Order: sequence, then C-alpha cells, then structure tokens
Amino acid sequence: MSPAQPYPSAARRVLLTGGSVFDAATGQVRPGEIVIGDGRITAVGAGTGSLDGDEAVDTSGCLLLPGFVDCHTHVALAATRQDTFGLPRSARGLSAVPVLRTLLRRGVTTVRDAWGADAGVRLAVERGWIEGPEVLLSLRQVCTTGGIGDHWSPRTGPFDFFGDPAMPDPVFDGEDGARAVVRRMVRAGADWIKVTATGSLSAGLGVTDTQITPGEMAAIVDEARRQGGRGVMVHAHGARAAEEAARAGARSVEHGTFLDEAAVTAMAESGTWLVPTLSVTQSGDGDGEAAEAHRRSVRLAASAGVPVAMGTDNPVRPHDEVLREIDHLAHAAGLGPARALRAATLDAARLLGLDGDRGEIAAGKRADLVLLSGTGLATGALSERVRAVWRSGRRVTLQDGV
Ligand SMILES: [Zn+2]
Repeated sequence: MSPAQPYPSAARRVLLTGGSVFDAATGQVRPGEIVIGDGRITAVGAGTGSLDGDEAVDTSGCLLLPGFVDCHTHVALAATRQDTFGLPRSARGLSAVPVLRTLLRRGVTTVRDAWGADAGVRLAVERGWIEGPEVLLSLRQVCTTGGIGDHWSPRTGPFDFFGDPAMPDPVFDGEDGARAVVRRMVRAGADWIKVTATGSLSAGLGVTDTQITPGEMAAIVDEARRQGGRGVMVHAHGARAAEEAARAGARSVEHGTFLDEAAVTAMAESGTWLVPTLSVTQSGDGDGEAAEAHRRSVRLAASAGVPVAMGTDNPVRPHDEVLREIDHLAHAAGLGPARALRAATLDAARLLGLDGDRGEIAAGKRADLVLLSGTGLATGALSERVRAVWRSGRRVTLQDGV
C-alpha cells in the first residue's frame, strides 16, 4: 500500500468525461463532464467535449454524484462496545481506521460523528495518516444527570470508562452547567454539541420523556453559538423533546421516532433539521411499532416542510451498509430517489453549514465525487454500483492491493 497523501494533493487536471451528472439541487440527471484539479471541481460542461485536462477518465454509462455526507454516525465505538474497561486508550481511536476506510470506499466523504471519536481521529485524517471522510466531532453526548450519556451504575456509582481528558465529562444540570459542559467540549475540540433530550430506543426507557428543561436547552444552544457559531444536534425520540429542542433553536433533531403535528410545526418554523437515522428502525423487516411510527414521523416532517438530511447511526448497523439509509429515505420515508440523494449530499452539506464548499457538482466546490455504474437514480443497490470515489480530488483505492 502506498503511503497516504495529505489532502488535497491532485495538482493535475483530471477530465471525467462521457457520462452523466446528478444535479443535487434539481434532482436532474443530464449528460455532463467535469474537470477536477487541486482538490476542486474547476469546470463543469454539458458533455459536448468542450473541456480538456491532463488526463481523462471515461465515465460512459456511469453517473457522477457529489460525495455522500453522513450527518450521524459513530466511527470509533467498535472497541468501546467490545470491551468497555480492558483496552488501552489508543484502541478506541484506532478502531476508527477500518471504519473510515469502509465509509470512504462507499463514497462517504464527510461525516459528523455523533459521539465516540476524539480530536485525534479528526487530526489523523487531516494529516493523511489514515484515509477517510472528513470527520466533524461531537466527542460525547452531553446530558442531564441520569441521561444516556451518564455512565453510572447503582453498584459502582459513576464510572467514566473513557477516563480520558480528550473525552470530557458530559453530565451537567442547570443553565450554568449547560454552558460549562459546552465549554468543556469545545476546549477538547468538538465541532458540534450533541445533547440527549430523551432516553434511548434500545434501552426502551424514557423515549417520550423530556430530560432537559427549556432553559437548559436554550443555554446550550446560546453557548454553542457563542463558541464560534457551533450548532447543536439533539437526540430526541419523543415529540415534546423534539418540539422544545426546535423552539430553543437546535440545528437538528436526531431520530425523531415519535414526532407529532406540534413537533414538526415547531421544527419547520425554526428551520430545525431532521436526521431520522431510519437504519435504526427499518433494518431487518422494518416491522414493529417503532418502525411504523418512525416512517410516519419522517413523512409528517417532510410534508410540513422540515428539511431532512441523511444520517445512519452506524454502528447500530455495520458501516458497510451505510448507503441503505438513502434507500430508506427514498422509500420508507417517501422522499423518492432524487430527494433522498439530495438529503445525502447537498442537503446534508446545508445542515452542516458546508454547502458553500461541497455537496453538489459545481465549479469551485470540493472534488468529493462518487461514480456509480448506470445512470439511473434507483437507490436499491447503491453500494454495488460504486465504481470510483474522489475525496478532495484524490482518487480513492476501492480495494486493497489494487
Ligand atoms: Zn447515534
């Protein structure tokens, strides 16, 4: 394997020609060719052969899309889940190495980690020590006492299994505590603040509770904004928690399994995004109360005008299944293929505030690209169709030894 190159590295102008291009803004597929150089898309043509480059890649019979953006994943939880106490600290970060490679090879070029990865993981990708999508960090899920980020047992009391200054204490109470926990996370390198407002679906406890007061939520949102304009992502299954998060100005609601009319109205009015992570409930046969409620929630949100972005919540499902979420958005959530692909590209970049830089195939945007075999937008077998991936203009090796 050749040593990793820092991003961006491609100085030569590469012409991708002969195929079709997905316009994320309109959902249209049209013949197109592009030139990439110095990590950016430098020109987009109509496919009439008017562009040239130092080298050409034939994309005939294929479709170029912007790189996928996963707004809710967990790249460094594998080691933690296998053995909470017995591992050296470095194991957690190193467990992200194969995960990030897998995501990149599926065409995912940006991820927002919804807790588990520390600033060393982001740095290792930035420096080119490991290959992967760009990683945006939340470090840990902040919560009030007894929330799902609070690791405590009646036998031991508190047990912070991270025991690691790079992963600060996420537990807080009250508005002053809310500001302090945001400052702790930012000090350790968080790009986003992840808050849990309800219990978890897997534990089946507290999913319709609201475990944070409106005053605490408002303090978190305000403090995050003061800290370099950071956004807040709120884990919320129940409608009241989602509604209060939206009213407080949270940037996104994660999961949103049991939304109702009042919740989606508040989200639409506040411009709060929904990252439904349908993979959590729609995996397997998609049966069950939560699976049905979740489909209904996302449809309700979309019809109320709530913007929707792609997030998988892996590793609840393995990371090599990341693109199934797009199929869930298209069908279970009823967005259809073009809107689902937009939710995974341009809209995801909008949620993250990165749409000036990436998320669509346009001159000046970062050359994060996926080449799929075939020119159709059907979302059923996206992984199998990935023929090539470019990350900041550098072509990714899709298989070891190739
Ligand atoms: Zn999650």
